[in-house]
Amino acid sequence: MVAQHSPSHPNPNAQNAWPVYGHRWAVRNLARALAAPGGTRQAYLFLGPRQVGKSTLVRAFATALFCTGEAKPCGHCRSCTLMAHGSHSDYHTVAPMDGGDPPKIDRITGKLYQEQAENLVADAWLRPFEGAHKLFHIQDAQRATTDRFLNLLLKTVEEPPESTIICITALDRESVLPTIVSRCQVFDLQPLDHPTITQALVEGWNVPHEQAALLARLSAGRLGWAVEQAQRPAMWQERQTRLEQLWALLRADRNERLALSEQMAGRSTQLYAMLELWAVWWRDVMLVQAGGADACCNTDFRPELERQAQALRPEQVRDYIRTMRRVEQSLRTNVNARLALDVMLLRLPHLT
Ligand SMILES: [Zn+2]
Repeated sequence: MVAQHSPSHPNPNAQNAWPVYGHRWAVRNLARALAAPGGTRQAYLFLGPRQVGKSTLVRAFATALFCTGEAKPCGHCRSCTLMAHGSHSDYHTVAPMDGGDPPKIDRITGKLYQEQAENLVADAWLRPFEGAHKLFHIQDAQRATTDRFLNLLLKTVEEPPESTIICITALDRESVLPTIVSRCQVFDLQPLDHPTITQALVEGWNVPHEQAALLARLSAGRLGWAVEQAQRPAMWQERQTRLEQLWALLRADRNERLALSEQMAGRSTQLYAMLELWAVWWRDVMLVQAGGADACCNTDFRPELERQAQALRPEQVRDYIRTMRRVEQSLRTNVNARLALDVMLLRLPHLT
């Protein structure tokens, strides 16, 4: 049974006063800035893969910033309580409504996100309600692209009102305007190591150790992903079904492969989950072929990994990993999903 914590509210006593697992250097740096009079910057940029902990860190930073207790964040004062309940009136956040998961931006939710982001930044000039500061968090800034928004954002990070701290999160440096990057203190968050994720899942979310260790290996260093999966009881069954589907496809003919393509196109969330799973699987097959089986993620399916590693040539696996990367890139840049999927399924190696 998994406790009902969200990634933003792990057991605060588990690691340190900040409710954040890992990213210790970033926590230390931010805590030090808060402790020094006038030590905080007004614009921060947090970069890193999806669900690696960027937003959790921003929320923890905001909690410490607003806290009126002694050791910040104290977890007990009015501000800490409001932050824990997600109802602090000086913490404002805007995120794409689809959670940023599907590779394509839906036109309607995409437009709404832009509008909300624009309104949020325009509000930077209003006074805080509770204390001395307001904190604005723009999530997935790589997806906010209108000129109006970028101009507003640039103007705000160039001359921010004294009471406002703006935190921007994005996937990587290239996806944010260089003029914005140069005005922010940048935190490049790295994937967490397996022991940190395992420990976090066990202590913060009561996941059994063996399951936690497997999730940590599958997570590619993203605690948020691991927590999300641990909280979905159907996750293990879905994973097994998807992997079995992949194994069956290796023996399927052209028509069977195209039938799956037709079925999956348009279901972008599921498609994306499948892509992630397959990418890890093929990396594992490659590792077994290279004699690195100990570093595999899908350790619970070791016999099948060994079978495929033996049956396929290393260059077939390498080529296919390259194909998958290209397909994923095309899906992100709005190429016809059906066409990209056809390519991905038809180029799957054949097992006899
Ligand atoms: Zn407090």
